[in-house]
Amino acid sequence: MSSVDVTAGHDFDVAVIGGGPAGSTTASYLAKAGLSVAVFESELFPREHVGESLVPATTPVLLEIGAMDKIEAAGFPRKYGAAWTAANGDGIDPLDFDVHQQGLGTAEVLFNEREQLGVDRDYTFHVDRAQFDLILLKHAESLGAKVFSGARVHRVGFTDSDRPVLDVGMGPVRTPVRARMVVDASGRSTLLGRQLKVKVPDPVFKQYAVHSWFEDLDRTALADRGEQADYIFIHFLPIEDTWVWQIPITDTITSVGVVTQKSRFKEAKDDLEGFFWNSVASRPGLLDALKRSRRLRPFKTEGDYSYGMRKVADDSMLLVGDAARFVDPIFSSGVSVAMNSARLACADIIAAAEAGDFRAHRFDTYVGKLRRGVSNWYEFISIYYRLNILFTAFVQDPRYRVGVLKLLQGDVYDDEEPTALIAMREFLAAVENDPTHLWHSKLGNMRVSPESKCLF
Ligand SMILES: Cc1cc2nc3c(=O)[nH]c(=O)nc-3n(C[C@H](O)[C@H](O)[C@H](O)COP(=O)(O)OP(=O)(O)OC[C@H]3O[C@@H](n4cnc5c(N)ncnc54)[C@H](O)[C@@H]3O)c2cc1C
Repeated sequence: MSSVDVTAGHDFDVAVIGGGPAGSTTASYLAKAGLSVAVFESELFPREHVGESLVPATTPVLLEIGAMDKIEAAGFPRKYGAAWTAANGDGIDPLDFDVHQQGLGTAEVLFNEREQLGVDRDYTFHVDRAQFDLILLKHAESLGAKVFSGARVHRVGFTDSDRPVLDVGMGPVRTPVRARMVVDASGRSTLLGRQLKVKVPDPVFKQYAVHSWFEDLDRTALADRGEQADYIFIHFLPIEDTWVWQIPITDTITSVGVVTQKSRFKEAKDDLEGFFWNSVASRPGLLDALKRSRRLRPFKTEGDYSYGMRKVADDSMLLVGDAARFVDPIFSSGVSVAMNSARLACADIIAAAEAGDFRAHRFDTYVGKLRRGVSNWYEFISIYYRLNILFTAFVQDPRYRVGVLKLLQGDVYDDEEPTALIAMREFLAAVENDPTHLWHSKLGNMRVSPESKCLF
């Protein structure tokens, strides 16, 4: 690890807090542009991390920073599509005539059904995040970024707004590090969001997840066809707002996690294992398959993880990735938002560096684009929870399928509002306003207000 040389009033042009996908992507873009950049990562990589299934919107970023060949060489399983299976797929509510008759139980999409700007292949990846994040961090280093591992940033001093000072702890030693600007990519630990008291818990989404890796799981247990074995599966459970992810990690290892609401999770108290098995037992086919496989890791929990920030940029500072905003992971959006927020942020940071001016207004383009992209994801996810059946209906309707796929590809940063989202919003309002509508009784309890849609 390099030592910090305090010269010329600042040690680096940009200091990045955190070396996950948001931090290493930021560092890669900035180092490529010739800026001096340091990444402070509190952990020693490789380290485990949740969030293993990518969407194709990561591809243009991996290509632009020049990391794609390394990701391909790592041999991560390719992800060509995604599938959702219905709660009644193997055992519940056989009398739900409406769902059965309209075939709205399951849904499947393939990424090759729609061309996406900057995406040159019809797949993305499922990744072991320990390996993926290590490759990206080393890549940033290979481009010239200085990486300090095992270096925790405790706080950032903004007394001199021209020269933020990071208080960096490396073992017992605390070192002040000065930079022209600081990028917070500290993930869900949200260093600056907490320090500056701009973090706001999401008023609607309060999910918990319990997850682990399993060896030799039959991934086709709930699939329609054998070719779906390498898809990500989202299995709905017949328990309100509860679902399971099934993500291939290697040929034989599969990541499986249960996501549920806080209230239900609290009922399970500290019995993570019991909670996991009771939940999957509501899908007997899945339970059987899991029982026949072998768990490789202790169960891990992730709790109450949705929030926004009242501010994501200010003089000499900016937030990217989970440090800026986190919603629900149902559509595998997190790593894509992390990498794309870094991409968008870096365009503004590089222009700011050229102008020698790092004041807040320099980051307006970033803030606008991030807000648009994230609020598209947020509304899409909210509609899904509010009226589940609408999602599968739209995926199967040729008028909307490509529009929904666009969202699922992570293609959410256009100036135009996604047409599928507008149509879904209108349809949902019609169902909500008409108690006689066939689907009115299927409305879920989670209801999103316009204020919660945009928390920054
Ligand atoms: C249950 C669940 C399931 C998910 N599933 C998916 C999925 O399938 N697909 C997907 O794309 N996303 C998923 N996500 C989201 C995904 O995990 C995140 O969006 C993604 O990891 C964000 O990347 P990041 O770089 O912003 O943060 P992180 O990957 O969390 O990286 C932040 C880094 O900062 C470091 N750090 C923290 N504090 C400090 C500090 N003070 N000083 C120095 N370093 C620090 C941490 O050690 C960490 O390495 C899921 C999330 C959850 C909770």
